[in-house]
Amino acid sequence: MPFLFKLIQVKMRQPKIYYIRWVLPPYRAMTIPPFGIFIKKRYRDNQKILNHDMVHWKQYQKMGLFMFYFRYFKQFFVYGYDKMPMEIEARYEEDRYTKKHYSEVYHNSNKNSI
Ligand SMILES: [Zn+2]
Repeated sequence: MPFLFKLIQVKMRQPKIYYIRWVLPPYRAMTIPPFGIFIKKRYRDNQKILNHDMVHWKQYQKMGLFMFYFRYFKQFFVYGYDKMPMEIEARYEEDRYTKKHYSEVYHNSNKNSI
């Protein structure tokens, strides 16, 4: 029971934000509940990336740890990264084209990758 209580406490608090040198390519950041949000150092000043990943953190808070990963990977395999609803929700600041072509705009172009 103390373990469960601890998990719930972790879930409710704000995420820890880590700025690190390496994130799984081609991504610029990753939300990994319950640990926090991991962002490539070079995007430290990119508020849009932080906002995007805060949406994932809220999804996790709403769904819980297990359902967050279960739904995320289910959607990933059913719809693919560009069309999956949990990612599209996190792209609320993007224009209509970018919402559905996120990989093309951010992950496959040279402007934002090393
Ligand atoms: Zn995302």
